[in-house]
Amino acid sequence: MARSRGNTVELAITQLVILLLGAGAVFFGLRRASVVPFILAIFFLCSILAVLKLLKPAHASRKSTTGNGTIAQPQIVPEVRAPAKKRSISDQLQALDWYQFERLLAAIYKEKGNEVERLGGAKPDGGIDFILRMGLIELPVQCKHWKSWTVGVKEVREFLGAIKDAGLESGRLIALKDFSRDARALAQRHNVQLVDGKDLVKLMSEVNWENNPAIQSILNETTKICPQCDAEMVLRTVERGRRAGERFWGCSQFPKCEGALPLEMPLKA
Ligand SMILES: [Zn+2]
Repeated sequence: MARSRGNTVELAITQLVILLLGAGAVFFGLRRASVVPFILAIFFLCSILAVLKLLKPAHASRKSTTGNGTIAQPQIVPEVRAPAKKRSISDQLQALDWYQFERLLAAIYKEKGNEVERLGGAKPDGGIDFILRMGLIELPVQCKHWKSWTVGVKEVREFLGAIKDAGLESGRLIALKDFSRDARALAQRHNVQLVDGKDLVKLMSEVNWENNPAIQSILNETTKICPQCDAEMVLRTVERGRRAGERFWGCSQFPKCEGALPLEMPLKA
């Protein structure tokens, strides 16, 4: 904006100077009663004006093509900013609660053609969230929706116990972030498959997450779902004890169901 105004002022001053010069030439030309200087002055003025008019548009178009043009900018800015509002896969996964994360993984494997038997939620202590069936193969899966920590040896060991309890031989452990080096070594020794944050992004792409209704319905949920009974949850406040006054998501079926989730993520609009 400032630049274009500057150019206009510059042009006006130039034109004024030229007009004054022209007027001077005309005045002196008439005084000397000679036609030749007068014609020369007019010719000189016309040439300058013609050169200026030729130069100015060329200068302006060069500016707009380099992207520095002030006129083109307001049209480009909204187009560039619009996709930035779209959240990345990682951001969307981070925004989920652990139960949504578990259901999302179950949905992803279903979309990939696996049969999925969900065990988590109602039986969270079992150490297995769901079982994948691929033909005759049964694969127990556990999801760790840890936003800040990497999954360590302890969790792999616990998962190995759960696999053994279920009478199975192998399993798949899924982490939102990553696994520690020791955890990876232990998993490798016991044939436990690990899926980390990078693998998750790949999995999401494989099921075309942006245009997949089953995936989108979980990512865009506007209600919290109870991990124990799948009923809707409501915001409640702790009434007694150390945490009195704290808010949390409680099952709408309370006291029949005591399902609860921490109030860590606000509901999406
Ligand atoms: Zn419930």
